[in-house]
Amino acid sequence: MKIVTLSLRRIFNNRCHHIMLIVCYCWMGCDHDPKSRFTVVATTGFIGDAARNIVQDHAEVITLMGAGVDPHAYKATQRDVKYLLSADIIFYNGFHLEGKMADILHKLSKKKPVYAAGEAVAPAQQLVDPDFSIGIDPHIWFDVCLWKQVVRHMSNQLQAADPQAAAHYRKNTDRYLHELDELHQETLRAIQQIAHTQRVLITAHDAFGYFGRAYGMEVRGLQGISTVSECGLKDVTDLVKFIIQRNVKAIFLETSVPERPLQAVVEGCKKRGHQVAVGGYLYSDALGQAGTPEGSYCGMFRFNVQTIVNALK
Ligand SMILES: [Zn+2]
Repeated sequence: MKIVTLSLRRIFNNRCHHIMLIVCYCWMGCDHDPKSRFTVVATTGFIGDAARNIVQDHAEVITLMGAGVDPHAYKATQRDVKYLLSADIIFYNGFHLEGKMADILHKLSKKKPVYAAGEAVAPAQQLVDPDFSIGIDPHIWFDVCLWKQVVRHMSNQLQAADPQAAAHYRKNTDRYLHELDELHQETLRAIQQIAHTQRVLITAHDAFGYFGRAYGMEVRGLQGISTVSECGLKDVTDLVKFIIQRNVKAIFLETSVPERPLQAVVEGCKKRGHQVAVGGYLYSDALGQAGTPEGSYCGMFRFNVQTIVNALK
């Protein structure tokens, strides 16, 4: 308070009225306290983007994992803990995607609303992988129809937690679900451009199982469902054999996974006389940079589909 009084006195003495007006405006009118708004905290970019589409400017959305971040290996930072503690509601993916955040999310769930996106996916729709410790494939964002269920689920939880804004959330959700419908149809049409025999999607890790099921592509990853388990020499040789056998034209790197192991596959094919191209980078477990088209769920999805179609058609 002493500092404020001194500053004001100096301002008065200097007759800097315009500066005084700015100071007073910020003191009285600016809203810099995040707790003065309903605050949603999301773990991944996909979940943060869904939340932002639902709440628009009626609430604050904080996303913990940025572009290029691997959620399988991610540990909460001190800054994240601060955000999580001050959140009104928390959304995470679940199915063990945020494997290293399980403890903190569990503890917080006893104090405030904490929801997994995966709760929206019925058991019959879940992809089960016997090689993955927890059993269920967590990459549910790659089937737009499943993602619509997630958006609906999140919207319901947000409406219950922030009833004053519920009507806005409902309206925004309806509009966004319509946008997702268009994205789904567009993807189905785009994949038709690839010959049936070439509908094979090979990536650094097994992130595209739901994509393959929804859009009719056979999917193979060099690493398993989680990037935490490493691939060995046998995985590389097996994949090389598969690529040659199926005459696969291109394979894909991922923005959140190191590219070296997949480059070994390209070299392995070359040694055996088969040229396989790198079709480009796909966004698998993280969105692109904020402010770019790929920084949104729909933009990321369109980019991936276009990259896949361009390399395999
Ligand atoms: Zn993954």
